[in-house]
Amino acid sequence: MNLTQKIKALTPDHILSVYSGKDGKCCCGCSGKYSYHPKHQAEQSKRNGYEVTANLNMVKRVLELLKTQEADAVDELSEDQLTFVIGGRLYMVMLAEQPEEEPPPSTMYAYELAKALMGEVGSWRDDEPVDLEGTIQQAEELVEYLKGFRS
Ligand SMILES: [Zn+2]
Repeated sequence: MNLTQKIKALTPDHILSVYSGKDGKCCCGCSGKYSYHPKHQAEQSKRNGYEVTANLNMVKRVLELLKTQEADAVDELSEDQLTFVIGGRLYMVMLAEQPEEEPPPSTMYAYELAKALMGEVGSWRDDEPVDLEGTIQQAEELVEYLKGFRS
């Protein structure tokens, strides 16, 4: 995914916090303001040791501004931090860690069947790598496959 696609796919739910402040000034909060997505407010306050400000409207507004920017006007400071400047104002968008995607149900079912047949994953013979996430979607197919490895 390139930066343009990444920005396009962002929703407020992906965002930990946003910053809006004077460009070229200190970013500690003395020349601008950090606003957190409400769902991260409590945890972040605990982490910081002081109460952070939740403001979903601000999160949405800065995200909308980000989406108006051409990708080459956006600085990707790191994978989870984007900045851009509009008219002397510096904006930052900090992305939240995304929860891992659940495996598709058929894979989960296959996994349960495999466990019933083979025991816990750690006890499987490990000289033959078994890919539960990727190539094998069908439970029966997987079970047949695993029978071949039963020691
Ligand atoms: Zn400062």
